[in-house]
Amino acid sequence: MGRAERPVRAVLLDLDDTLVDHAGAARAAVLAFVRHHGRDGDPEQHVERWRALTDEWYPRYQRREVTLDEHRRARVRAFLDASGLTDAEADDRFADYQRSYRSQWRAFDDAAPLLRRLRDAGLPTGVLTNGEQGIQTEKLRRTGLLDLVDVVAASSGLPAAKPDPRAFGATAALLGVAVEDALMVGDSWENDVRGALEAGAAAVLLDRRAARTGTVRDGVDVVRSLDDVAAGTQPRTPAPSRISRTPNSANSAAAP
Ligand SMILES: [Mg+2]
Repeated sequence: MGRAERPVRAVLLDLDDTLVDHAGAARAAVLAFVRHHGRDGDPEQHVERWRALTDEWYPRYQRREVTLDEHRRARVRAFLDASGLTDAEADDRFADYQRSYRSQWRAFDDAAPLLRRLRDAGLPTGVLTNGEQGIQTEKLRRTGLLDLVDVVAASSGLPAAKPDPRAFGATAALLGVAVEDALMVGDSWENDVRGALEAGAAAVLLDRRAARTGTVRDGVDVVRSLDDVAAGTQPRTPAPSRISRTPNSANSAAAP
């Protein structure tokens, strides 16, 4: 039986910018951070610069080229143009940012309703997120979503981060299903969709800025809201060879 004929037996969901508004929280935290540190200039440029530094360093941490602390210090030193900061000073400044970031966590309005629908449909759910297990679990708890999911799989506790197929296989295994029986829902083409398809799972792309639900990108269904992810729906499942590797800058890796 080909993937297209297999029923979905479990749903994997990305966390940042899929269930929880990471970008909004990070933006608010950067604005508070630059106010606190008296940085001049266009606030939006600061937000963009922080995002660019995150995009530069967070994947390196996910590939385990640098440690969590090293990548945080690098982001802070570059952002503040302060290469001379000691490790302790850089850690203090990152902690300032992170306190503010955590205080801004909000679930999207369509997150809890989807998780309830999936539970009502009898489909086990797993959050599959590139991040720290403790932080991501706390994020789900504080936004009221933790009790609505069955498994939280963060890359810090997985054999590899998304888009590595091992991340999808390990999370499906935690839910007791074959990866080919899982559907991945996420906002990143590279990490969520391409990774899932290469692992053998089905995928749906969440693009909250899409004109409408029902469009198809490279053979993959696109939804503009989690309200449009129907429990039990059979998504399209193109062959992985058809999936482009076009990076989507709007869907960059999320980081604390
Ligand atoms: Mg995401």
